[in-house]
Amino acid sequence: MPELDGKRVFVTGSAAGIGKAIATLFTQRGARVVISDIDADAAKKTADEIGAAGVANCDVTDEGQVQGAVQQAVDLLGGLDVLVNNAGIEVSSPLLQQSTESFDKIYAVNVRGPFVAMKAAIGHLIESKGNVVNIASIAGIGGSPLLGSYCATKAALIQLTRVAAVEMRPTGVRVNAVCPGFADTAMVERLVPDFEAATQVPFGDLVAMKQGRLGTPEDIAEVAAFLASDRASWITGSHYVLDGGLTASLV
Ligand code: NAP
Repeated sequence: MPELDGKRVFVTGSAAGIGKAIATLFTQRGARVVISDIDADAAKKTADEIGAAGVANCDVTDEGQVQGAVQQAVDLLGGLDVLVNNAGIEVSSPLLQQSTESFDKIYAVNVRGPFVAMKAAIGHLIESKGNVVNIASIAGIGGSPLLGSYCATKAALIQLTRVAAVEMRPTGVRVNAVCPGFADTAMVERLVPDFEAATQVPFGDLVAMKQGRLGTPEDIAEVAAFLASDRASWITGSHYVLDGGLTASLV
């Protein structure tokens, strides 16, 4: 039987990149997935392409939209077993030169977004004894120049994961996080020029030296699928690093 057979899944930011890979792999493994994104056209295109169960769009910074989309997904699927909080944005800026408005924006997407989505989904997840997978980052574990506010939001997401997991343990709901290194998506493409300018090292060389190769969205989807599955039934409050050894190395 496929690993995620019959699981009812809602993935934010899943029109592209890592979210799309998660939606694709989960569907291949037997889940019924509702795609959600800020870009409605792209969401529909992805849903059609991968044979998703449906689309329920939201901008994760808008709590009303998130509540509406979660309810729409529940109505489409007849309940909810897995929430994947994947939607996230990057800001490339020296921390103390970043505008406060820009700081508020990244916090609203990367921290407040998963918070309101977990609140909207929790009643349904308690009913199904389901689970949450939060897509954090190794930027939540170590610091990186130009990514100060991003690092802070991902550290906050790891902490939300831990506390939600502990508080929800008596209900049977599990909450985990995934912490990828650099992966091959549009987000990283956008970061390359600033990183190369700051480090004076070609990004490809940096990646080869620090993590062997660029991660693929599918690498991350594999770990998310495991955490969402019943095989991970004793795993909660954890954050899984997948970075080709980047955070393991001092040099
Ligand atoms: P991506 O390629 O930029 O895709 C993100 C998706 O989320 C896009 O479809 C985007 O739509 C959507 N989105 C953006 N803002 C949203 C909002 N407010 N509400 C709903 N959807 C929104 O990014 P990615 O690289 O796949 O990243 C996915 C997650 O993995 C993020 O949480 C990111 O922080 C995390 N992550 C990525 C890497 C990496 O190396 N790529 C590493 C570690 C962690 P638009 O394109 O229309 O904005």
